[in-house]
Amino acid sequence: MSEKLKPCPFCGSKAYLIVNKKNGKAVALCRKCPTETNIFPNIRKAVEAWNNGLINRTRG
Ligand SMILES: [Zn+2]
Repeated sequence: MSEKLKPCPFCGSKAYLIVNKKNGKAVALCRKCPTETNIFPNIRKAVEAWNNGLINRTRG
């Protein structure tokens, strides 16, 4: 299953996923700026949230 993340809506950089191998929870983050999704129960939900703009800027 390939998961396609849109570019960051704020800076246009690539986004990436961090997945917890133990429980499968996933979060999508921007490589450059402090933008991230909440933590979701699986990769698909995290990708959907990122691609739909359900994102936070908690670090900036
Ligand atoms: Zn960004």
